[in-house]
This record gives sequence, structure tokens and C-alpha cells, in this order.
Amino acid sequence: KRLSAQEIRDSFKSYFAERGHLVFPSASLVPHDDPTLLWINAGMAPLKPYFDGREIPERARIVSVQKCIRTNDIENVGYTARHQTMFEMLGNFSFGDYFKRDAIRWAWGYLTEVLELEPERLYATVHHEDQEAYDIWHQEIGLPKERIVLGDEDNFWEIGEGPCGPCSEIYYDRGREFGCGSPDCKPGCDCDRFLEIWNLVFTQFNKEPDGSYTPLPKKNIDTGMGLERIASVLQGVPNNFETDLFRPIIAEAERVAGVPYGVDAGRDVHFKIIADHLRTVVFAVGDGVLPGNEGRSYIIRRLLRRAVRSGRKLGVERPFLHELAPAVAEAMGVEYPEVAEKLEFIQRVVRTEEERFLETLSEGEALLQETLERLAAQGDRVLSGQDAFRLYDTFGFPIDLTEEIAREHGISVDRDGFQRALDAQRERARAARQTAEGMNSERGVLETLTVESRFVGYDQLVTDSRVIA
Ligand code: ATP
Ligand code: MG
Ligand code: MG
Ligand code: MG
Repeated sequence: KRLSAQEIRDSFKSYFAERGHLVFPSASLVPHDDPTLLWINAGMAPLKPYFDGREIPERARIVSVQKCIRTNDIENVGYTARHQTMFEMLGNFSFGDYFKRDAIRWAWGYLTEVLELEPERLYATVHHEDQEAYDIWHQEIGLPKERIVLGDEDNFWEIGEGPCGPCSEIYYDRGREFGCGSPDCKPGCDCDRFLEIWNLVFTQFNKEPDGSYTPLPKKNIDTGMGLERIASVLQGVPNNFETDLFRPIIAEAERVAGVPYGVDAGRDVHFKIIADHLRTVVFAVGDGVLPGNEGRSYIIRRLLRRAVRSGRKLGVERPFLHELAPAVAEAMGVEYPEVAEKLEFIQRVVRTEEERFLETLSEGEALLQETLERLAAQGDRVLSGQDAFRLYDTFGFPIDLTEEIAREHGISVDRDGFQRALDAQRERARAARQTAEGMNSERGVLETLTVESRFVGYDQLVTDSRVIA
């Protein structure tokens, strides 16, 4: 069945609402009251207080479509068919209510009856000790043994101590032509044949400080399906970026760059990076994160700079990302009207940051180029931490960008040396702050934008939108 992303979101919410779930709106990308997390990275993340029992949910069943950021996937973006830095997780959750049987049956029901996926293309992975889940898949759902894959660590979900348990992942077979051809190719293989679409986590144990697992009195269900991945399947496209979630953004990038997507694989990588990173930046700024030098702010700065650099690879030398922001609002606006509402502000932030970066980028790139050529001529294969730091400090080059450019010349970067230089500078800055007031690196951005009061307003809005629908 061919469905738009919006139709998928809506059908997912209705399917689970019909089964007693409360529809929960997406929380902000910025975690609320959770110092352990930089970004909301899963549908369950904003629901943690319900999972660990700190708070009692209004209903024991919740369904949500949650925007998520995962920075660990930055390097994958553009290169795999299935990763973005920001994605949406469709999730159903049970807090001490239903467990494995219903979680599996409903996942299967939604995929085969609502989305009408061919059952023959679906596979499930099961933890090798989870006989209960195996039996449900095999005996109740009727999934043949050949399409149940047993796993170990990949099928057990835990973070340190606390609630944890086995999980069962559902994979979609895109067909042999997407495969790597290896006889061992099966779900979990890194090629594009078997696409992991949905993870069902069965939280049934508590990991104790001594490392043992005790059964939880109240078992939970936590599931997550990637919207872009399921959309790519339903829309019959080879990767997430060719779904209706990204096409309008890529189309704008094509217009600005004056070169087409889909002709040259190397160029497509840059279209994907631009579309992905810009989308993440737009949403993060919308949720109140401004580009800067620390924590979340630094990630946003880094994503924006990577997108600028990809733009240059497509031949765009002027600030252009802010022009693409309306396409993000267009692609995502029905579910997230706040993006369109804050568009003007977001565009201003993006534009200011782009302009600053472009100014220093050309100078820095010339210097780096020169240094790399000198090293290559000397037969040296490592760029010193000091040189990398100077690029970072004077020209605003994120270290990964320096590494990327260096790698293109077959040269690596002394990361430890860079880190030492960075730490030393931070120490100097801390000392300086104690004597002279103010002047932190983000102040400049805030001053040019003069948006502090509105910024607080948005933060407020974001907090308010957590109210249950
Ligand atoms: P993968 O193995 O493909 O990296 P994962 O096992 O890390 O995925 P989970 O933590 O199980 O992913 O998250 C649940 C679901 O969220 C995945 O099955 C997938 O559909 C989706 N998902 C996870 N990471 C991303 C990402 N970076 N971009 C898009 N979708 C994602
Ligand atoms: Mg992953
Ligand atoms: Mg996985
Ligand atoms: Mg997974």
C-alpha cells in the first residue's frame, strides 16, 4: 500500500488508539529533567519516569510519534540507506499492562493488515533465551522457523543497572537485488537487503548492582519503528531520503545548486547530508537550541557546518541553507506546525551561522590545503594536534571536518594532541572568566540576533506541548 508519511503517522496512532492507547504528542528534542541524555533519542526517552516508576501515567498504554536525534549516526548519514541524525520513532508502550503477546500481535497486525506488507518479506530476530517470544512468533503468528533469527547482545536491551530485557526486531526483506550476495546474508547484515524497521523491547528484568537479573514485578513494553524506513518501504524507494519526508528538501537543494539529484552517487551523498543536517538544525533551533561551542549547541553548529561544506561540494558558495528551511516546514508541517510558526526565527539563526562560517571557511581551507600538501610532500601522514587546533580555534573548523578533509589526502589527525590543546584552551578560558566578567563564545550570536526573550517564549511553548492530547 502506498502511503504518505503523514498517513503512516495517523494510521499508527489510530491503530493503537483503537487498542486503548493514549495518544501522546512528540516531546521536545531537548530532554526535560534528564541530565543523562543530550538529546531525546528514542520514543521511550521522554517516558522514562513512567518506566522506572517515578511517575504514574494517566493510562497504562501510550502511543507516540517522537522526533529523535542520534549523533552516533552522523557518519552513516548519506552512506547508508537508513540512517539520519534526526528521525521519527513510531512507538507503542505498555506500563505494567500488556506484554509480549499483544506487542507482537499488534506489530504484526499493523504491518500486514493496515500497511498491507507481504508477510513473506517479514523476518523477526529473537533473543536466544527468549522462548516465550519465539513461540509467539512461530506458533501464534505462524512465522516459519527460517524467518526467525536468533541473536544475543543485539537482542538484549540494557543500559547499566535498572530495567532491561530481551527485544525482538522486525526486518523487511527488500529483495536479493539489495543484498551483498554473501551466503551468510541475513537480518542484521550491514547491507541494504534486510531493513530493520521495528524494535520491540520487552522490559522484564531489573539489572542489579551485582550484575544479576531479577524479574520485574511490572513488565513494560517499549517499541520503536523508524518512520522514514517504513515510509521508504511503502513508497517503494531505495532509501529514506527519497521518501516524501525528504524529497521537497532535496528538490530545493537541487534548485539552489543547479545540479540534479540521482545522477551521481557521490553527489547524492551531499544532497542527503544537506537535507538531513538542515532538518535536524531546523528542528533543534525550533526547540530552542542555538549554535554554539558546547554540548547540544556545538552539535548543531557542527551539523550546520557539515551541511555548508556539502553545499560547497555541490558548488554552492553562498549562504543557502536558510533558503531551504521552508521546504523542511513544508515536508514536516502537518505533524509539527511549530516549525512553520518559528520559521522566520529559525531562518535568521541559520543564516547568521552560515555567514559566519563561510567567512572563515575559505581562509581556513586554504591554510589546511597548504599544510596537507606540505605534509604530503614530506611523506608525513599525520596532521599535528596543534595544527588541527589552530584551524578549530581561528577558523571554526570542527575537528571532524578537518579529519574529513585530511582523510581525502590520506592523512590522519592527531586527535589526542588536538584534545590536549583544546583542554588547555578551556582551562585558560576558565581562568580568564574568573577575572574578566562575561564574554562567552555564544554571546556574539545572541547579540546579533537579539532573540533572548523570544527564545524563552519558545522554550515555554515546548514545555507546554508536553501536555497529553
Ligand atoms: P540500526 O541497527 O539500523 O542502526 P538500531 O538498532 O540502532 O538501528 P533501535 O535503537 O532499535 O535502532 O531503534 C528503533 C528503530 O528506530 C529502528 O528499528 C529504526 O527503524 C529506527 N532508527 C534507529 N536509528 C535510526 C536512524 N539513525 N535513522 C533513522 N531511523 C533510525
Ligand atoms: Mg543504530
Ligand atoms: Mg539494529
Ligand atoms: Mg534495533
